[in-house]
Amino acid sequence: MGRLVMKFGGTSVADIARIRNVARHVEREVKAGHEVAVVVSAMAGTTDRLVGWTREAASLHDSREYDVVVASGEQVTAGLAAIVLQEMGIPARSWLGWQVPIETDSMHGAARIMGIDPKGIIERFAQGQVAVVAGFQGISRDGRVTTLGRGGSDTSAVALAAALNARCDIYTDVDGVYTTDPRIVAKARKIARISYEEMLEMASLGAKVLQTRSVELAMVHRVPLQVRSSFEVPDGPNQNTVDGSGPGTIVCDEEDIVEQQVVTGIAYSKDEGKVTVVRVPDRPGISASLFGPLAETGISVDMIVQNVSADGHTDITFTVPQKDLDRALKVIGDHKNQIGYDSLKAARDVAKVSVIGVGMRSHAGVAADMFKALAEKSINIQAITTSEIKISVLIDAAYTELAVRTLHTTYNLDGH
Ligand code: ASP
Ligand code: MG
Repeated sequence: MGRLVMKFGGTSVADIARIRNVARHVEREVKAGHEVAVVVSAMAGTTDRLVGWTREAASLHDSREYDVVVASGEQVTAGLAAIVLQEMGIPARSWLGWQVPIETDSMHGAARIMGIDPKGIIERFAQGQVAVVAGFQGISRDGRVTTLGRGGSDTSAVALAAALNARCDIYTDVDGVYTTDPRIVAKARKIARISYEEMLEMASLGAKVLQTRSVELAMVHRVPLQVRSSFEVPDGPNQNTVDGSGPGTIVCDEEDIVEQQVVTGIAYSKDEGKVTVVRVPDRPGISASLFGPLAETGISVDMIVQNVSADGHTDITFTVPQKDLDRALKVIGDHKNQIGYDSLKAARDVAKVSVIGVGMRSHAGVAADMFKALAEKSINIQAITTSEIKISVLIDAAYTELAVRTLHTTYNLDGH
């Protein structure tokens, strides 16, 4: 039956009763003949509490010790899940990141996985043992505990699946990936199949089901991915059917999707900050003098709009992650003389709304439909960016819900 990585998020392991439920899902797959590695997050709320303690201890703290503290949540759930499995008569043991080992670089708090040696786990598979792996953590070349960034257990699971040549099922508190946030649009529908490319855009543009990095990894290593709910009955059907009537959402190659929509989903993010640089001299090199220093400070600029030139001057508007807005203003302020602008304006009350779909590559008019639908609701567009498979607009944050709902209807995504 092959190998399977099953990842369970924080709400799925929030207490012992839920860990028992997790164990029943694992039992089903073991009985079906799979070799199973389980990847667990910390109990819901635990990581936030641990992060809070490091801040309380010292606002500027050693990031290596931060990792020692925040990695501890996953150690607890890995041990507990192994105990519960054993109690059910299923051979199991826990594996911490360093025990596997899951090797990472030394970027503490946001480490990247460099390699996983699955030998030990595979040996235990041969003896019929389930591996329970602590997500979110690894070990650096110099032997220190590292963590992968918030939400990083998804990435642990996909990386382990790649190393084990396994399928990867992500169990969470929703039953799949939706056309948009169901809390905003009651008519949002569960997507049966979505391509890696679309999922990557959805995750990085604001959908919170999967950590963006995990989708990147799945795409590069072609790991078959399924997102599903841990709250569904553990002895229900365990595979998605081709028509999508089974549980969950399958993330796969574009070619494996039979009925492709033009727009697959709509994402939004309110974490945007907008900067307008007023009256910049309109001459070669001006964008370099503006965006160079921002890049050097590690601030990523997203949408950029340059207005038409009037008497040799222009305004440039762009967005940065809201958490970086103050830093961005400071950096530009520090370079006022080189850039030579009049003044700076900043806004936090903006939101980015994006429509995503690989079908856009072969369909004209998707952007025009979007702009028309927003215009009909009198929603003003402040900036636009596009790629082959997505269109994003920046709007007043107060209209986010209205915009998402309107576009959901425009692209025929409403369910019943
Ligand atoms: N426990 C970590 C977090 O809360 C990692 C994860 O759950 O994926 O960010
Ligand atoms: Mg998560």
